[in-house]
Amino acid sequence: MKSLYGSDIVRNMPAYLFAHIQKKKQNLIEQGNDVIDLGIGAPDLPPPSYIIEELCKHTKDQQLHRYSSYQGIPELRKAVAHFYQKKYKVTLDPEKEVLILIGSKEGIVHLIQSVVNPGDKVILPDPGYPVYKMGVHLVQGKVVYLPLDNNNEYKPNWKMISGQDKEEAKLLFLNYPNNPTGATAQKETFVKAVEMANKYDICIAHDAAYDHVTFANYKSSSLLQVEGAKKIGVELGSLSKNFNMTGWRIGYIVGNSSVIHSLATLKSNIDTSQFIPIQLAAKKALEQSEDEIRTIHQTMEQRMLKTWQLLKNAGFQVEKTKGTIFLWVKVPEGYTSSSFSEQVLDQAHVIVTPGSAFGKQGEGYFRIALTVPEERLIEAVQRIDSWINGGK
Ligand SMILES: *Cc1c(COP(=O)(O)O)cnc(C)c1O
Repeated sequence: MKSLYGSDIVRNMPAYLFAHIQKKKQNLIEQGNDVIDLGIGAPDLPPPSYIIEELCKHTKDQQLHRYSSYQGIPELRKAVAHFYQKKYKVTLDPEKEVLILIGSKEGIVHLIQSVVNPGDKVILPDPGYPVYKMGVHLVQGKVVYLPLDNNNEYKPNWKMISGQDKEEAKLLFLNYPNNPTGATAQKETFVKAVEMANKYDICIAHDAAYDHVTFANYKSSSLLQVEGAKKIGVELGSLSKNFNMTGWRIGYIVGNSSVIHSLATLKSNIDTSQFIPIQLAAKKALEQSEDEIRTIHQTMEQRMLKTWQLLKNAGFQVEKTKGTIFLWVKVPEGYTSSSFSEQVLDQAHVIVTPGSAFGKQGEGYFRIALTVPEERLIEAVQRIDSWINGGK
């Protein structure tokens, strides 16, 4: 049968699990209820004003309203390379090893298209960011899940992937600091991943969307700090969470030059990179010192500590995080991820994301996004507490 409205691939995309919760939220609000939405995975805080001022300044320059070069302007690619040198002591060639992206989500989906053939296997973390799975579906690749679990601090255990799957896999995604679990990785995790990927010729794509959203003394590691990582690896970075710039759509990918060349070739047939003033403002952001960037996330850290403490006091099983904008919490006994999420909305008017939305391994957990002011987080936990514990 011929369908005018949507290709098979698009019509068969896995359903967005959270759609009916959004519908319920709307109904509750229309009935005059105060709903606290802790489902939104994007910072609510603004970018630092120096970045906005930089954008405004360049917007007034009439020369900067033309097409950017396909790979992104050289000034920004150089700034990304400097940033890697400064933060990670990793040397990058801004011509061949850096490509500017229109947000890392765009980069993830197009990276998959530029590396994976129909039927090829792709190893994805479970639980994990749902975009990876959608990207693999779009090219009709086959997903192999890498189960991550709490007992192993959400680090990969490569024995969980069969020899045949490793042989046949073309691409592997990792993501630390991690969405949804908030887990972080030490260099050792990447060393083992590179060793495995080199042995089986698998390309590793490390999604480092939260590499600067880190707390206390924790500093994230880069995949590219590992000896030999550039032979098989790329890393995706983004200004979205690191600088509270989700709406600006600006990110980058660095690492293996053939993978980057392949992605650049695909992208040059699809887009013409991002608005030049946005790229110049991103350059300004990346030029700030580590300490200055850290101050952006102090509010998130305070919210995390406060919410973690209150959840503990209310009897929930939850770990403090070293980074990201999330807390990953075990659902109380007698609930599944989805029954808890449904009822917490009905009973406490609080939205959380069921862990199962991120994969099978997410069952038994829910994710809280710390993306509302502290007093709203306090109120949310109080409501959950009095619903679950009856205010005991
Ligand atoms: C938010 C997020 C992204 C996408 O970020 P953009 O750069 O805004 O597209 C990618 N990966 C993870 C894990 C995220 O949470």
